[in-house]
Amino acid sequence: MSLVHWRNHINGQWVDSDQHLTILNPASNQPVATIAQACIADAECALQAARRCADSGELIAVRPARRVTWLLEIARQIRLVADDGAHLLCAENGKTFNDARDEFIEAARYFEYYAGMADKIEGISVPLGNGYMDFTLYEPMGVSLQIVPWNFPVSICARSLAPALAAGNAVVIKSPELSPLGLCILMQAIERAGLPTGAVNLLCGRGREVGAYLAGHKHVDQIVFTGSVPTGQSILRAAAENAVPSVMELGGKSAALVFADADREQLLSSVRSGIFFNAGQVCSALSRLLVERSIYDEVVEQVASLANSLHIGPGAENAELTPVISAGQLHGIQAMCRRAQEQGARVVAGGDAVSGLSGNYMQPTVFCDVTPEMEIASQEVFGPVLAILPFDTEEQAIGLANGTDFGLVAGVFTQDLNRALRCARRLRAGQVFVNEWFAGGIETPFGGVGLSGYGREKGQEALYSYVRTKNLAVRIQGE
Ligand code: NAD
Repeated sequence: MSLVHWRNHINGQWVDSDQHLTILNPASNQPVATIAQACIADAECALQAARRCADSGELIAVRPARRVTWLLEIARQIRLVADDGAHLLCAENGKTFNDARDEFIEAARYFEYYAGMADKIEGISVPLGNGYMDFTLYEPMGVSLQIVPWNFPVSICARSLAPALAAGNAVVIKSPELSPLGLCILMQAIERAGLPTGAVNLLCGRGREVGAYLAGHKHVDQIVFTGSVPTGQSILRAAAENAVPSVMELGGKSAALVFADADREQLLSSVRSGIFFNAGQVCSALSRLLVERSIYDEVVEQVASLANSLHIGPGAENAELTPVISAGQLHGIQAMCRRAQEQGARVVAGGDAVSGLSGNYMQPTVFCDVTPEMEIASQEVFGPVLAILPFDTEEQAIGLANGTDFGLVAGVFTQDLNRALRCARRLRAGQVFVNEWFAGGIETPFGGVGLSGYGREKGQEALYSYVRTKNLAVRIQGE
């Protein structure tokens, strides 16, 4: 049976290319579909199309209410394709069908949320005394380049695409090579909403070739990158050539502080989603559990038995632990687990790949006796691997939590509100959860400090990354 072939979307057309990529199902490593692999010429066409659209004023000269209707129509179209899109995303990405469907629904929510802001991007008037009138305008950046990772391609893409369009930018999206198909379905939904030609362009191409070319291009006015630290750093170097502002959403090694009075049920349900959801391939995963010593042994045992109880299997069967994205990713995770043991960490659950299954399955893994200088305590694994460390005092817990180069999210589990708020203030992270991991939503600003990046996505605040301020200072004659 021949595979379905997908193409890039450039200047309002679906465009093929000479080279194709084969997309594999992580649950079997069998091919799912092929996709056109964009080349430099495709990237150039996409940027030219976005530039023409941005410069034509078609997105910004209209009444803002027009952009509201475009975004709401995109949301409606996404909801219509959510089931079909979820089947494809589940097959190419390995995640469960339900989680894949949630991604499409979340994507629709981003468009609804930012539709509500598209006609409220209001400047201020600045009093300068008689003889002057002064006010500010928020103008779109122009062309927004959005480079998307494979772990939540559809919702992460919508997270930056929706505010960019709400503010009147034209966009070029660089989809991830390992999981680009769900974005083709998203693009089909966008196409049906009837935006001006060139407003949204979608390219699937090699990062180091096409991604790097795009990042250094003079037609790009703003970059939103979500992905790994080394790639983010190389994009920043390219962006520096043209002094292009950027939003960087990078990795994490996020810690939860667990005090002896923590509600155990809340904690275990947070650990379950925090590190095992999406096979741990979540930038804001709960990858370090810092536990007060008086309950340390008990919590280690409970978390180990939780990990051992998870049903491992394909996303299509909505298993509790799904495969990781690729064989390469699996090997990297295995290697980190081996090094953790060599450095003295003790495995209490998992520790290796699952044998006897043909896909990229990693056992849900829990390490205890972890010390801060071990690699497993400070470096991102991006897999279902948890490190548990003990602490004796609140001060020590904060020091451990803040002791890596990252600072994406953090959590505090305690019944003592004063302690929770005290710790939350001192935690070096862009978002702090109290008593529930992933407690935020599309309404809550999200982003990192340190090597986790800068700029904020989600919430009202994110919109202002997609505009620049212009001040109009007017001298009034005769006043
Ligand atoms: P990655 O950095 O390998 O790739 C991300 C994207 O960048 C892909 O589209 C890739 O093709 C492109 N790319 C690669 N090299 C490039 C280059 N030189 N120039 C331009 N583009 C290039 O990351 P990944 O493996 O897809 O994703 C995993 C990483 O992403 C993890 O570190 C994770 O923590 C991070 N992440 C962060 C967030 C967040 O919001 N903070 C969300 C999801 C993932």
